[in-house]
Amino acid sequence: MVRVDRIRKDLEFLAGITSTPGEGVTRLAFSGEETRAREYLRKEMEAAGLELYRDNAGNLFGRREGRLKDAPVVMFGSHIDSVVHGGAFDGPAGIISALEAMRVIKEQSIETSLPLEMVIMTEEEGGRFGSGVWGSRAMAGRVSREEIFEGRDKEGITKAEAMRSFGLDPEKVRDAERAPGSIRAFLELHIEQGPILENNGKDVGIVESIVGIRTFFVTIRGKADHAGTTPMEFRKDALVGASRVFSEVDTIARRSGKGTVATVGMVNVRPGAFNIVPEEVHFSIDLRASSEEVIEKAAREMKRFLEDQCSEQGLEFLWEERLAVPPVNIDPTIRDVFVQVSEEKNISTHLMASGAGHDAMVMASVAPVGMIFVPSRNGKSHCPEEWTDYEQVAKGADLLLGAVIKLAG
Ligand SMILES: [Zn+2]
Repeated sequence: MVRVDRIRKDLEFLAGITSTPGEGVTRLAFSGEETRAREYLRKEMEAAGLELYRDNAGNLFGRREGRLKDAPVVMFGSHIDSVVHGGAFDGPAGIISALEAMRVIKEQSIETSLPLEMVIMTEEEGGRFGSGVWGSRAMAGRVSREEIFEGRDKEGITKAEAMRSFGLDPEKVRDAERAPGSIRAFLELHIEQGPILENNGKDVGIVESIVGIRTFFVTIRGKADHAGTTPMEFRKDALVGASRVFSEVDTIARRSGKGTVATVGMVNVRPGAFNIVPEEVHFSIDLRASSEEVIEKAAREMKRFLEDQCSEQGLEFLWEERLAVPPVNIDPTIRDVFVQVSEEKNISTHLMASGAGHDAMVMASVAPVGMIFVPSRNGKSHCPEEWTDYEQVAKGADLLLGAVIKLAG
């Protein structure tokens, strides 16, 4: 059985490794804090009987051999970097669950056919260089030279320099790539970061899909005029046009279903004076859903509404697509293993979509993936209040353990 006391001790220890004590966890990629967290984890992983190695992206692995030599590996883990002023569970919940599973496997001398590896992924959050899911992208062969040699943090340090200070050779990142078929399964336990499990009173979420994301930037142009002397019928108010679009974005998301969510989170108004009719509005639309067709349809409807509004009001517009990440389907076999193990262990579950991107989303291009969510108190994350009870993490860890053993034979 997994032990709550150990999970608690590990999570509390990691929570203390932050560059912003008293103001949440700040543990950026390739930082002194990350190094200290890894030193602790290295010791614990060695104590769990694992053989450690690191790839050229900085991902740290702890391996336990199986009976079959050169067989594909069952891999599980998460990340330990955080956002600025983040919480103690986003990332570490998955790392500590993986570590605890490895401890139990050693204690009970469980032998598997396939080898097992727990992994600490590097720079999932992208809080430092603005380029997230780095470690998993490196494993999937999806990193660019530009982001390594040109991307800089706030202090002007390039990622290449940060990597060198971590003892890594940025020229050799490609070596981190994994061959297709070399990973039998990639499993990640993560906090939910939303309110669904808590509201349903369930122990664990089994992820069926990870939503696809589209980001659009829209500019609407009208005419700046005096707010006192220009009668209503002569105005070309860009903000009036935009505000109708904002409202319609919300309406379209609500009627689209399939967990569709859409957000206008950034708005800039020019000239932005209280007594001038707004000439130009620049805003973002973040659209997510678990089906590509639903995303396509919702995006088309939003754009058509924008066109109609603008032509009706004599406004001009520009519609730019910035980001398009397709939805990822979770491997049905792995999902079924999670369901089966949770029934055996009396863990209550809820099948759901993940509304946020994770390393597992990227790993889906090199391996079958599965994800488990544990509840987030009040649905909060990326803030100091982020919380999951240790008992809840332990239930997730127990499910992870059972699934790992089943998948590795
Ligand atoms: Zn995370």
